[in-house]
Amino acid sequence: MKTVTDSFIDERTIEDTLNAAVAPDRRRVREILAKASTLAGLDQAEVAALMNVVDQELLGEVYSAARSVKETIYGSRLVLFAPLYISSFCRNDCVYCSFRARNRELKRRALTQEEIAAETLALVTQGHKRVLVVAGESYPEGTGLQYILDSIATVYNTRSGNGEIRRVNVNIAPLTVDDFGRLKAANIGTYQLFQETYHRDTYAKVHLAGVKRDYNWRVTGMHRAMQAGIDDVGIGVLLGLYNWKFEMLAMMQHIASLEQEFGCGPHTVSVPRLEPAEGAPFATSSEWLTSDEDFLKAIAILRLAVPYTGLILSTRESAETRRRCFELGISQISAGSRTDPGGYTAAETNGDLKGQFHLGDHRSLNEVIRDISELGFMPSFCTACYRLGRTGRDFMDMAKPGEIKYHCEPNALSTFQEYLDDYASPDSRTAGEQFVNIKLAQMEPPQRRISEALLGEVKTGKRDVFV
Ligand code: SAM
Ligand code: SF4
Repeated sequence: MKTVTDSFIDERTIEDTLNAAVAPDRRRVREILAKASTLAGLDQAEVAALMNVVDQELLGEVYSAARSVKETIYGSRLVLFAPLYISSFCRNDCVYCSFRARNRELKRRALTQEEIAAETLALVTQGHKRVLVVAGESYPEGTGLQYILDSIATVYNTRSGNGEIRRVNVNIAPLTVDDFGRLKAANIGTYQLFQETYHRDTYAKVHLAGVKRDYNWRVTGMHRAMQAGIDDVGIGVLLGLYNWKFEMLAMMQHIASLEQEFGCGPHTVSVPRLEPAEGAPFATSSEWLTSDEDFLKAIAILRLAVPYTGLILSTRESAETRRRCFELGISQISAGSRTDPGGYTAAETNGDLKGQFHLGDHRSLNEVIRDISELGFMPSFCTACYRLGRTGRDFMDMAKPGEIKYHCEPNALSTFQEYLDDYASPDSRTAGEQFVNIKLAQMEPPQRRISEALLGEVKTGKRDVFV
């Protein structure tokens, strides 16, 4: 297979589509929403039309269509994970990030394997089962990618009682096809990489030094990852660097290109929004900061456009904003996060001074779980698909609503029950068990039977059971 080296982003078409788009009339919006409700996804012109909806009543219809697609495919599940920052060294100069090479104020750290094990233990003892390993683009002298591979092995090998991390996702700089092959061999779950901005001029303005200046190398990163056999990839843009509408259409082109080349689009799309960052004044002065209203609109439209693709929301957002986003289509969230290497084990936290950017949600995993279950969402620590090899296209096939009922929901409940038994505070446990019973009662008999069987196994002390 020939490696893709040129950008497939067609800026001219995006600009033309944006210039031609006018606020769509009621009939057009309803036609688009009717198509979306068949779970067929949306094309670029349809996405452009929905982005231009301003009428509040019509916007309400867009939100309610997104809620119903989310409910049909994902039910009320929210999968939980935590980022694990292992190094803040970086040779790039991204003007929005604290880790940028020219930020001399930052006290940098690259964790040793012992420190990574200690951080993992801290996450395991909170109840986490999935982590996202994150690093700046510069590894300790003489190590290169091996540092990341060793770190992944350390995370997988760190256990405590019933606890272990079962899926390690990775957010690191893009690699060659050969090196992506090494990353795959390390048993990663998802490889995640954000383009930051697909707009070439803006990209050049915000990336001042280092390998990351090369737009084409980055934009073709996911093609190399998939060529190397990594079939769960996670894309994203950093909202706030440029016009969100441009980024949404460009993201649709990225998805289309992966689908065309590999027969399957990304496993997830992340929606990080630019947050203030020490030593990176651009993060607060960008002229394109995305408003809450546009942010919610972007999430709802993505849910309709790529119904089977997971949508990830991090703790960059405040608890209040997060609550509003969940029902519009978010399927995975981080909780109890730190963005400073060593942050989970630091005896004394130092605010976010050593972190990559400021966080909006500082609550612990236990508090987040309590909150989301009170809102009716089912916390899930499930890692079954990846462990059973249901990745890439196989996952997409499995993700059809009928199948989800018999796999994802029972797995969500059983992994939540594990959490309640092993880690929850007494009051959270009582509330959580009531929640499990309510969800069980709402299930149809065949689904309930599967769930009860799994829950029964967990209650007798078995762990890591799934269907
Ligand atoms: N260094 C690698 C890279 O840039 O791809 C991987 C890790 S980087 C630490 C992870 C992501 O953090 C970046 O892709 C960027 O989108 C995000 N980020 C950087 N600065 C941010 C800020 N001020 N607010 C929100 N997200 C930010
Ligand atoms: Fe380095 Fe990534 Fe931060 Fe850019 S975003 S400065 S590459 S850590």
